[in-house]
Amino acid sequence: MSKQKEAIIRVLRETSSHPSAEWIYEQVRKDVPNIGLATVYRNLRLLNEAGEVSEIRTSGDGTRFDYNTRTHYHFHCDRCGRILDLDEPIDTTIEARIARRTGLRVTRHHLELGGVCLDCQKLETHTGACV
Ligand SMILES: [Zn+2]
Ligand SMILES: [Zn+2]
Repeated sequence: MSKQKEAIIRVLRETSSHPSAEWIYEQVRKDVPNIGLATVYRNLRLLNEAGEVSEIRTSGDGTRFDYNTRTHYHFHCDRCGRILDLDEPIDTTIEARIARRTGLRVTRHHLELGGVCLDCQKLETHTGACV
């Protein structure tokens, strides 16, 4: 495995923020100063194809990356843009139900919930009190 790839995986493993390629690039540069953004993009694509990281397309602000490749649900904060993992059992009945009704062979599904995260809610009440 190349040094660049290792550095990218390390950055992803150590964050739970589901970062963008640009953010990963900024972090990886601290370890591998001469790395280019194109190299980061290419390695992320390869890692995604190899199933070592997963690429998530979010509503709104583009592609993010996740070290957790198991199926899990996400919560996307409308205020700060953070994506949080939800510790929620995967609802496989939806796949069976839709397969039965439509005849489609359903093998996966993604779920992204949206709203306001706890930190942003705190900020809301805080600024609310100051006004
Ligand atoms: Zn937030
Ligand atoms: Zn995730």
